[in-house]
Amino acid sequence: MLDYHLHLWEHGPGPLDATLEQVAAYCERAAAAGVSEIAITEHLSRFRQTDAVLRGWWDDDPDPVIASTMARWWDGDLGADLDQYVEVVLAAKAAGLPVVLGLEVDYYAGRMHTVAELLAGYPFDVLLGSVHWVGAWGFDNFGEAAFECRWETHAIEGIWDSYTTSLEELADSGVCDVLAHPDLCKISGRRPPVPEEFHARMAEAAARSGMAAEVNSAGLGKPVAECYPAPDLLRRFVASGVALTTASDAHRLGRVAECRDELRALIRSTGCETLQAYRSRSPHPVPLG
Ligand SMILES: [Zn+2]
Ligand SMILES: [Zn+2]
Repeated sequence: MLDYHLHLWEHGPGPLDATLEQVAAYCERAAAAGVSEIAITEHLSRFRQTDAVLRGWWDDDPDPVIASTMARWWDGDLGADLDQYVEVVLAAKAAGLPVVLGLEVDYYAGRMHTVAELLAGYPFDVLLGSVHWVGAWGFDNFGEAAFECRWETHAIEGIWDSYTTSLEELADSGVCDVLAHPDLCKISGRRPPVPEEFHARMAEAAARSGMAAEVNSAGLGKPVAECYPAPDLLRRFVASGVALTTASDAHRLGRVAECRDELRALIRSTGCETLQAYRSRSPHPVPLG
């Protein structure tokens, strides 16, 4: 069992230093829960080095309210040092702790070459690829009124189609290794009449890119109240030969390895008994456990 999606910090302003003690505590909690290896995968958007090369990306969105809302949210989440983060996780790994160095990378339309250039300077083990926004609309961010109200004003098919197109572009960019929370577009609980059409595109995107897909329990605490991916999408991933990882997507120690039994049961129900772990961005199989 793995927990391959972990954050060190909650969203919003706060001290954004990584410490060896915190990483060690995550490892200890995971091990006590029967999780053999973790990946620390902080959001790329939280680092000053990212801001230096991507700042202003939201201005590509034609809606000025959405763009300015994203700009304000971005600044409120910013301030960590990528070099310090990498140094601390590498020190934990060198000390023999069962941890690998990762990052949760957002999809930036038309700018993934810039992202790839930034990341090439660091020895990451695994890169998660996430679609958290469509244009500059942070659709999974229910704390922002301008973002939340768009769920009411836009047709659900269009939302799912835009999300899926972004996911396809992210997969085809080749920048990341694992599709994080693959059907995050279901977060509000609203689904199109035939979600299978979109699931087919998501599974095909993962299969042709060679990416793994993450089975993530964070959706259980959202309006949709379901793990990512939906059972139909999970079956399609397995049938297409897409490898799997497991993830709590915890943002604090108390949630590390959360819902591991649910995730294991979900995966086992497809007949799959193997997960995919990574070193230096090369995959290797590990038992589901
Ligand atoms: Zn995410
Ligand atoms: Zn996350």
